[in-house]
Amino acid sequence: MAKYKVTMLKMGTLNGEKSNMTMGRNFGITTEIPMFSVAVEGNGHKIILDTGIKSLEWARVNLGEMYVIEQEEDETMEGALAHIGWKPEDVDIVINTHLHYDHCGSNHLFKNAKFYVQRAEWEAAFNPVENQQCFYFEELFGWSAVRYTSWKFLDGEAEILPGIKLIPFGGHSVGSQGVFIDTEDGVVCFAADTIGVLENLYENCLPNIMTNVEDGFKTFEIVRNNADFVIPGHDPVMKKYQTTDFPKVDKIR
Ligand SMILES: [Zn+2]
Repeated sequence: MAKYKVTMLKMGTLNGEKSNMTMGRNFGITTEIPMFSVAVEGNGHKIILDTGIKSLEWARVNLGEMYVIEQEEDETMEGALAHIGWKPEDVDIVINTHLHYDHCGSNHLFKNAKFYVQRAEWEAAFNPVENQQCFYFEELFGWSAVRYTSWKFLDGEAEILPGIKLIPFGGHSVGSQGVFIDTEDGVVCFAADTIGVLENLYENCLPNIMTNVEDGFKTFEIVRNNADFVIPGHDPVMKKYQTTDFPKVDKIR
């Protein structure tokens, strides 16, 4: 079985209410919300999981000044790729866990890649339910960013390469998916926003931004049953360029 190397890429930091990531908890606490993408290499492939925001300027204009903290030079997608010795054109696969603006913002950079997304997420992105409308920007995933023929739409679980499995994650958005990667140390799950912070999984506390509460709890079980390690999408415990010692999945609660 192919084994892959996993490297954390940081895509800048937003400013937000901690309660956005934990349902019913942490009200009134402002916190730094780092955004993470992941570089996966192995089996002859260079793969990017999620693509961060488009730019700091984009965030200022579209989200508002109060939400933006910083993006260091190596926290743009181009800067981060340069740091690990990759060029955007080297990447042959991009996996979007979902299409919220901080997970597909730099899709336009990857001209040679196939893009994997769940079909349910793609369809929802053009017509989101009301509480999700502020998270989807067609300019980031539509034709002006990615050629339609570059998309691969999935209808459920798929092993897109030996050792790279995508599993639908209900809860945070209509068609989120988790990425399960075989590594030398075991199976690593990139959970993005369905486990934005470890508190979600370890304390069985849902994220606050949800489309389906029941499915959110099921997603925690999918992670516990299929992975040894978990990478949350927005937890400050994760470090830029981290390649080992990912947080363990807590199977007992
Ligand atoms: Zn999201």
